Amino acid sequence: MTDCLFCKIVSGDVPAKIVRETGRTLAFRDINPQAPTHVLVIPRDHHPTAAELAVADPSLLGEVVSEAHQVALDEGVAEPGYRIVFNTGPQAGQTVFHVHAHVLGGRGLNWPPG
Ligand code: 5GP
Repeated sequence: MTDCLFCKIVSGDVPAKIVRETGRTLAFRDINPQAPTHVLVIPRDHHPTAAELAVADPSLLGEVVSEAHQVALDEGVAEPGYRIVFNTGPQAGQTVFHVHAHVLGGRGLNWPPG
């Protein structure tokens, strides 16, 4: 989609600090990090939300989650723990409607989130 920020990161039209990539996914640092590790993992293909990706291509959603875990391992935050977040819809705080897994780690994370 031409007006999608994360599609522009996939195409290279918007720069990003890429930490991992596969043929179908991309992982890059969040521009406004909320934890010492804050990486976004996205499918290269445009799907608005995790729920829609689950219907359209469940194996790709699985690859996004697998890549999120690999990011946590690479960043050294897999132990003692990290969080994967899919904000889904505006009331949940989703602002970019190209599905993305937030990988947050490197500090204690409160529950429930705000
Ligand atoms: P959401 O609020 O949709 O769950 O998450 C969107 C995330 O994208 C936010 O954490 C925000 O900081 C991040 N973000 C917004 N614009 C950019 C950008 O241009 N580059 C990068 N790397 N992250 C961005």
